Amino acid sequence: MTTNAHWMQRDLASLWHPCTQMKDHETLPVTPIKRGKGVWLEDFEGNRYLDAVSSWWVNIFGHANERINARIHEQLDTLEHVILSGFTHQPVVELSERLGRLAPDGLGHCFYADNGSSAIEVALKMSYHYWRNVGRDEKKRFLTITNGYHGETLGALAVGDVALYTATYQSLLLDVLKVPAPDCYGLPREQWDAHARAMFAHMEEALARHHHELAAVIVEPLIQCAGGMRMYPPLYLTLLREACDRYGVHLILDEIAVGFGRTGTMFACEQAAIRPDFLCLSKALTGGYLPLSVVMTTDEIYNAFYDDYTTLRAFLHSHSYTGNPLACAAALATLDIFEQDDVINANRAKSDHIERVTSGFRDHPQVGDVRQTGMVVAIEMVKDKVNQTPYPWQERRGLRVFEHAMSRGALLRPLGNVIYWMPPYVIEHDEIDFLAEVTSEGLDIATRD
Ligand SMILES: *Cc1c(COP(=O)(O)O)cnc(C)c1O
Repeated sequence: MTTNAHWMQRDLASLWHPCTQMKDHETLPVTPIKRGKGVWLEDFEGNRYLDAVSSWWVNIFGHANERINARIHEQLDTLEHVILSGFTHQPVVELSERLGRLAPDGLGHCFYADNGSSAIEVALKMSYHYWRNVGRDEKKRFLTITNGYHGETLGALAVGDVALYTATYQSLLLDVLKVPAPDCYGLPREQWDAHARAMFAHMEEALARHHHELAAVIVEPLIQCAGGMRMYPPLYLTLLREACDRYGVHLILDEIAVGFGRTGTMFACEQAAIRPDFLCLSKALTGGYLPLSVVMTTDEIYNAFYDDYTTLRAFLHSHSYTGNPLACAAALATLDIFEQDDVINANRAKSDHIERVTSGFRDHPQVGDVRQTGMVVAIEMVKDKVNQTPYPWQERRGLRVFEHAMSRGALLRPLGNVIYWMPPYVIEHDEIDFLAEVTSEGLDIATRD
């Protein structure tokens, strides 16, 4: 009763898995995980896997982290949940105060939801609603950059641009404006700023033409994660903030994947020295323990909703588990660890080590690009290096890397042709070396014919 096969069979008879063609599981096993500790996951037969994707980008301080566990236990015996309309509780108040101090100045109002997509819905609705509340009903469209990803609910999907997820549902989606992303694929670092500046012309033009009907611009700062870990420099965000101010359009930054140290600073927007009008956070917010998200916004936005009830200007949006105390407790423990362990500084040595062991992949005949921002590195496989021709997606080269890595005890889950590491920050240098070894083998095997 404790074998992998046992749980696999029961699983396939009763579950429908996220982001999965279930027929794949006729040949590709689902892996039942019994327990986790630190960066390691363990199945029912004692095989261990290094969780190089932080369990879908959420886990930053390891599985079964003692400090987070203890905080949740304590909260569990005190208050598991309470309605957040008309009521409040200690963890949510403390978390809001601490987030307010950590985030760029002036984002003092925290609105909670329970997953990233819902945070995006909140930010989009708030921006739209703000403009109505100030008598600018015509400002109701959104502008974004290509290849973005903001989640799977219909509003979030509409402002995203990864065809694999959006194309099928196109006729259900809002009509959103898109300009080409400042993606620095294949360019050496020294050229990133020049490229970002050149690509910003598209954004400037769209803002000039459409600002009167635009509520907000929404982007993922620095790394377009689900879009294949495509990267761009802070300069683009600095230009974007300045232009949004000039044209009177909100800026929504989706830091759901990149917030909490992933790019090398606590928040990606710090690198551009800007403050968005809406900052969306989730994923690592609870250290990868429990679902929670938050939209942080300014006095100006908040005050446009603050009025007598009968004016019907209030933001009447809610989710059942909004601001769950257990999740907030996990988030507080996570923030404690950032402080106590000086995580942002400690990560510098780790990201330098990641760079040392991955830069050599550039010389591989089937690698078109190796790029890194903080604690994310991506290695892009190409069919033809000279012309940068990608492998056709139907060949599923990334899946070969996944299967090889699993056989070696590492959880790598490439996005199409892009192998990436987005590991928990508690990863050690020897574990990084191990990932490099597995990646090198996987790369050879996946590109062999
Ligand atoms: C994961 C992700 C989301 C969606 O969050 P969910 O919790 O999966 O709904 C939104 N934006 C970005 C950038 C993400 O990576």
